[in-house]
Amino acid sequence: MHFYCAECGKKYPIEGLDYQCECGGLFKLHKEDGEEITTTVTLGEVKTPILKRKLQGKEVYLKLDYMQPTGSFKDRGAFAMVNKLKELGIKEVVEDSSGNAGAAFAGYCAAAGIKCNIYLPESTSPGKIKQINAYKANLVKVPGTRDDTAKAIKKAAEKTYYASHVYNPLFFEGTKSIAYEIYEQIGIPDYIVVPAGNGTMLLGVYKGFKEIGQLPRIIVVQSKNCSPILSKFKNQPAGEVKPTAAEGIAIGNPKRIDEMIEAIKESNGDIIAVEDDKVINAQALLGEMGIYIEVTAGAAVAGMLQYFTNDYDPNLKIVVPLTGVGLKK
Ligand SMILES: [Zn+2]
Repeated sequence: MHFYCAECGKKYPIEGLDYQCECGGLFKLHKEDGEEITTTVTLGEVKTPILKRKLQGKEVYLKLDYMQPTGSFKDRGAFAMVNKLKELGIKEVVEDSSGNAGAAFAGYCAAAGIKCNIYLPESTSPGKIKQINAYKANLVKVPGTRDDTAKAIKKAAEKTYYASHVYNPLFFEGTKSIAYEIYEQIGIPDYIVVPAGNGTMLLGVYKGFKEIGQLPRIIVVQSKNCSPILSKFKNQPAGEVKPTAAEGIAIGNPKRIDEMIEAIKESNGDIIAVEDDKVINAQALLGEMGIYIEVTAGAAVAGMLQYFTNDYDPNLKIVVPLTGVGLKK
């Protein structure tokens, strides 16, 4: 297994400190035929249930992906990456997510005995970091903006392994497992509706179904307040980025935007943006059914309801992954 540059093809070892190519290209993962990640570190990952439910008259398959050990689908990525890093003898990592990815890495690193440093903007709310604290990760609070945190993490990554959920392709190697599970549970869906910020779910879904050999149409949901992927996909000028309730997908400048757009196009998919109130209503709608999701996860539900407003067909198999549990904040 090794990394290679998506632009120039140069090879890089997985255990090295480079997290992108010297040409600026992003890494992809190369595996030999049949080569898999050896897994010795576990927190009790599950094949998450899929529930058929009717939402406002539309039948959907809800994939309860918040039922992973740290409460979000990000565990799929952290599980794969931390296991590979453990095998390669990596002792310490840095990562920069205050949300579900940070919690997933902190949890899996705790299980693996790998020292985990999470870089956060100083302004991050205490509620968000409670879980990361419980896993005894080292929190590095960076004064200033998110950009200052990005600069600080890049400095730290010169000396310590950058276990990034965006740059490191091992993460997508993990998130793709959701596609295999869906395939086992209901076959190839007609549509899968996924929320996207950095695209960790979207690219995992794409990679998994691509390996299986058939892509469902991928409908990507962004927040109206932060929709760079939609703007680029539709060749529109980038809109202003404003705060949104769906903070887990509020990424103004996603690194893998071109890869995401290719994936959507290849699947004959589409992309839409939803208003905050629709996201919050969607969270409430599921709550009334006994399903408690985080606000960001409501974006996919709201997107599904919005996308299939006029042309809903009861024969369609539509899957909506629910990305994070509501108990976190
Ligand atoms: Zn390159």
